[in-house]
Amino acid sequence: MRRWNGWGDFNTVYPLPDSAIEYLAQTIGVGSKISDAQLEEILAQLPASRLSPMPLINQEAIERVFHARGQSLPDWVAMRSGKINAFPDGVAYPNDEADIRKLLAFASKNEILVIPYGGGTSVVGHINPLPSVAPTLTIDLSRLNRLLDLDETSRLATFEAGVNGPRLEAQLAEHGYTLGHFPQSFELSTLGGWIAARSSGQQSYYYGRIEDLFAGGHIETPCGALDLPALPASAAGPDLRQAILGSEGRLGILTQATVRIQPRPPMEAFYGVFFHDWEAGVEAMRRIAQERTPISMARLSNAQETETTLALSGKEALVQWANRGLRLVRYDAKRCLLIFGVTGTPAACAQARRQTLQIAHAQGGLFTGQVIGKIWRKSRFLTPYLRNTLWELGYAVDTLETALPWSNILRAAEEIQAALKKALDSFNERCLVMAHLSHIYSDGASIYVTFIFRRSEDPEETLERWKMMKSAASQAIIQHRGTISHQHGVGVDHAAYLEAEKSALGIALIRQMAHTVDPKGILNPGKLFS
Ligand SMILES: Cc1cc2nc3c(=O)[nH]c(=O)nc-3n(C[C@H](O)[C@H](O)[C@H](O)COP(=O)(O)OP(=O)(O)OC[C@H]3O[C@@H](n4cnc5c(N)ncnc54)[C@H](O)[C@@H]3O)c2cc1C
Repeated sequence: MRRWNGWGDFNTVYPLPDSAIEYLAQTIGVGSKISDAQLEEILAQLPASRLSPMPLINQEAIERVFHARGQSLPDWVAMRSGKINAFPDGVAYPNDEADIRKLLAFASKNEILVIPYGGGTSVVGHINPLPSVAPTLTIDLSRLNRLLDLDETSRLATFEAGVNGPRLEAQLAEHGYTLGHFPQSFELSTLGGWIAARSSGQQSYYYGRIEDLFAGGHIETPCGALDLPALPASAAGPDLRQAILGSEGRLGILTQATVRIQPRPPMEAFYGVFFHDWEAGVEAMRRIAQERTPISMARLSNAQETETTLALSGKEALVQWANRGLRLVRYDAKRCLLIFGVTGTPAACAQARRQTLQIAHAQGGLFTGQVIGKIWRKSRFLTPYLRNTLWELGYAVDTLETALPWSNILRAAEEIQAALKKALDSFNERCLVMAHLSHIYSDGASIYVTFIFRRSEDPEETLERWKMMKSAASQAIIQHRGTISHQHGVGVDHAAYLEAEKSALGIALIRQMAHTVDPKGILNPGKLFS
């Protein structure tokens, strides 16, 4: 069963060994266990629904609580403290497009706000109802989860948009195909959510980002339907698919999506390389991208992330042994770990591995074989469960990300991390900040930052600490002219920073598009733009 106030399934846990808890205590202080609000308390306090009865809408308290929040840090504080300031007034689970049309007509007629809901894994407040005078309906698309059409000749698959990662891949696997879109939230996030939030999978370097995979679709809006035919390319004016990508529920409900698929690869392997320092690793990453090395993923951790990953891995004996060996060959405190993957035929994999290692060796890289890569592969979708464990030990963890040109990567990464650390000074608290590069392009890369800090007994103070850090880091991103999001989207948390990237006129254009399909402004208001 899915957790209502954390990540994933109740039965999956990510325990930490004592040495890892000791490491956190030494680095940022001892965490204190703080009790959580109970589901029963929240259910008892739920305000009455403001919706009039409608056969497709469920007004049960449990449904409204389960759909109240996503996975952002403010969402966690709200769910764990019970201080949830707004709930949907009802939740609908449409079975088909006809249901969606009925729901949109009902909402439009009665001026009900509508939140399209995929897997609810948003980390920026996308699916949260806002405290508002108008009633809110959440449309959960999880029943729209079927493979509708498979065009093997064109390698195109059409799915209902509510299908989640595992179900989508399982349906393709039956026919020998894969989409290859593997965000870390794969277990719960959905095709519609990936498209609407412009998601990027861990192997996007090989398979492409979701915007490369989305070939066409069907969207229902309060003003009618929009069909986007699946075309390989088109010079017929602006590409409306690009407008739907990243539309965050404001341009309609995506009911079907046609995606570009590939045969399942015959081979896949992941390897580890250590560099003496971050600069050498970044240079290797740049060359890997610019020389079009045909790997399938690359993730370079900075020194702090390398140390923390090893400390929290739970593999104490292996880590001690590795650390001793690395010190002997002078990969000391500044060492940085690169994990890279190869995918394809054995010959293509061997070639990609050879090319990558040539570049790595030129930067002083030390190849360590497959051990670390195998551990990464095994835990690639399990790591989010660590967030539950850390929270229960008294620590809050959040991530943020951007993308910038190579010429600015080193400075921006340093200053974003410095801004996060400094923001906690006034609370007399320490923050564990670490970063990696994981999505590389010929002209630049994404910087992904994770920060862990102690929670306060007072949820408002925990939130205040987060706000100071998030705002300081976002300002640093904007100062460096990075995007406010490489993969998580805008939602509520990034909306204030969007104009820096799009300009006022650009925002006006987006707003006008939304007004055309949704003149009453009922679709996910407050997200993306105000
Ligand atoms: C632990 C964790 C790891 C993550 N890792 C990654 C990662 O590696 N890469 C990445 O890109 N993101 C990642 N994310 C962020 C998140 O998973 C993505 O933003 C994802 O695309 C959201 O999909 P979802 O189905 O959960 O959408 P939701 O969170 O339900 O919704 C997101 C937005 O999309 C809209 N929407 C959803 N479905 C539809 C639809 N059918 N039609 C119209 N609008 C719709 C919603 O209204 C909302 O605005 C992670 C999140 C978590 C919690």
